Amino acid sequence: RVWNFSAGPAALPQAVLERAQREMLDWNGSGASVMEQSHRGKRFIEMAARTEADLRSLLTVSADYAVLFLQGGATQQFAQIPMNLAGDGDSADYIVSGHWSAKAVAEAAPYVQVNTAASSQKDDFLKLPPRDGWQLDPRAAYVHYTPNETIHGVEFHDIPDVGTVPLVADMSSNILSEPLDVSRFGLIYAGAQKNIGPSGLVVMIIRRDLLQRAGRPMAKIFRYAEQAANDSMLNTPNTWGWYVAGLTFQWLHAQGGLTVMAERNRAKAALLYQAIDGSDGYYSNPIELSARSRMNVRFTLHDSALDAAFLAESEAAGLMALKGHKALGGMRASLYNAVPLEAVQALTAFMQDFARRHG
Ligand code: PLP
Repeated sequence: RVWNFSAGPAALPQAVLERAQREMLDWNGSGASVMEQSHRGKRFIEMAARTEADLRSLLTVSADYAVLFLQGGATQQFAQIPMNLAGDGDSADYIVSGHWSAKAVAEAAPYVQVNTAASSQKDDFLKLPPRDGWQLDPRAAYVHYTPNETIHGVEFHDIPDVGTVPLVADMSSNILSEPLDVSRFGLIYAGAQKNIGPSGLVVMIIRRDLLQRAGRPMAKIFRYAEQAANDSMLNTPNTWGWYVAGLTFQWLHAQGGLTVMAERNRAKAALLYQAIDGSDGYYSNPIELSARSRMNVRFTLHDSALDAAFLAESEAAGLMALKGHKALGGMRASLYNAVPLEAVQALTAFMQDFARRHG
């Protein structure tokens, strides 16, 4: 297999894929695939409960929080969050630090009065909005932010203090990459396709008191309180996604948990940024040092005329999906949990060799 630097859907741990392959035709002694059986059956319900328990222990999630396994991707949550957390006439504060937080604003706007409390758009999202300039409203229904911007490659390295207003975080591209103090958040959500499993599944951790918010009239399927009361099985869940998420959580425990993952992720990002910064300008990363993402590392070559050769040769060398997002150009290497240090070593060796050969 190749070293896969895709931003998402992204690499999964080899051991998870191998186990899914082994269990494909006969899951858990059932004589059928997990995809072929009822989510109401004993086997599936036990698996779902274990998966939730494994996530809770990885992140030390207290009983004050419900864990939901939803569908529709993180994008659907951009709308569902204001539907559930904001009532008539409420406003919500949004911190805009890149593509995804801007999209969250656009999708929330039909459902809540959005106050852009801070934005780094005028800096082309090359840094985070300076904390002393945030215009937070203590009456806001919630504060939404995106701790890691997958496309722009900027990351918050601490949790912002927003007082008593519930903090809502789109952790699609950094969940489970390090230990997390869940108690600082009202709601955490993540599309699964980076650090968890197949796309389409969304993992949500929501403080139970927020389930009681009246929100507005809406179909049951959209209401978090209904999902929580029905173990996220109001309708047929993404059974395959839930199962693979469970395998990933077991794998994370087997690795030693999130402290170990955090060390690995720090080492991987440090190695790649060193290769970029130490290349005498052959490669560069434009992000302010304190805001650099550990998960999504952007870089450009000193001459964009070399981009096509870089991509063709890297692919031939077994390094997959280094092309940057189309809106920004250049390159991007995503270094999620499933990408081993060895992959980053192969990438940096290739980058040095490419620079030598192409001068
Ligand atoms: N939020 C972030 C930070 C993302 O990286 C993505 C990309 O997948 C999304 C939201 C959108 O997720 P989905 O495609 O699951 O709706």
